[in-house]
Amino acid sequence: MTSTPFSIDLRSDTLTTPSSGMRRAMLDAPVGDDVYGEDPTVNALQDYVATLLDKEAALYAPSGTQSNLLALFAHCDRGDEYLVGDSAHTFRYEGGGAAVLGSISPQPLPMAFDGTLALDDLEAAIKPADFHFARSRVICLENTHAGEPLPLGYAEAVASLGERRGLAMHLDGARLFNAALAQNRTPAALAAPFDTVSVCLSKGLGAPVGSVLAGSQALIDEAKRWRKVLGGGMRQAGIIAAAGLYALQHQIDDLAQDHQHAEQLANCLTDNFGDSAVRLATNMVHLNLPEDTYAVFAEHLGEIGIRVGRPRWVLHRDIRSTDLEALCRAIQGFSTD
Ligand SMILES: *Cc1c(COP(=O)(O)O)cnc(C)c1O
Repeated sequence: MTSTPFSIDLRSDTLTTPSSGMRRAMLDAPVGDDVYGEDPTVNALQDYVATLLDKEAALYAPSGTQSNLLALFAHCDRGDEYLVGDSAHTFRYEGGGAAVLGSISPQPLPMAFDGTLALDDLEAAIKPADFHFARSRVICLENTHAGEPLPLGYAEAVASLGERRGLAMHLDGARLFNAALAQNRTPAALAAPFDTVSVCLSKGLGAPVGSVLAGSQALIDEAKRWRKVLGGGMRQAGIIAAAGLYALQHQIDDLAQDHQHAEQLANCLTDNFGDSAVRLATNMVHLNLPEDTYAVFAEHLGEIGIRVGRPRWVLHRDIRSTDLEALCRAIQGFSTD
């Protein structure tokens, strides 16, 4: 066991560092001024994502938060609202940006562990056309949600409700590729029910920065305008876009390793803490222990260089198979007595 503090860090899949192939791609990337639309690498990345998700166009953004916000700005005007899960990233973890910066109100609804909102709740929350109400404009879903893929067929059911009631559909697909892998579907198939889809390059895919928003040409043109307004117009951004393009071309398949590691880790945790304390969800393992037990456990792990968040442990490409062995040994070495 190494003595480096926190040599294994499971707090998030944002903790990956660029691979050597990725760094070379960044070094060699042809660049231009992307505000003028002249960065060949950014353009290649956008075209690649549009094709991958089977949408007309795509737009590179500095973060997933901005990419989701651009989608809401593209769909909504001042006084409109979006329907969203009450534990969704776009409601809870983006600083209330849609309301703060866009005068777009969220209509939060109860969200199940698998990211679904009850169709009845959605239906009931859509406001009639009456000036007392905000205008319901877009339904926002998330895939995966805390690692759980949306059940197959669910997004299609929501989309048909949306179509019937005249609402657009946005997907926060920060980890869409994990869902596609787990469900043996193409990313395009999972993106199909949505007008706009945001994917993160800086999570398990391993790029240092960036997200991409995909959708119709008209929506992406609108999003591009708002990206400039928000200060997200970048210049020779091909330097970082190259990392994202490399991730999509060479590192998507590596997500399978993360899922396999998560399963291995879930098995070790189950052996020690029992079935009911552990839930496996693509590249995440949720551990449900009493707070004081968890604190002692986390301290035990910290002493041997393993850093964990609560309540989920997240596998990513910088966690290697040898780390898994160390993790399982550390878990076995902890007694709840
Ligand atoms: C990470 C994440 C985002 C985007 O976050 P940024 O840190 O702004 O890139 C959006 N949605 C979900 C579900 C995420 O996990």
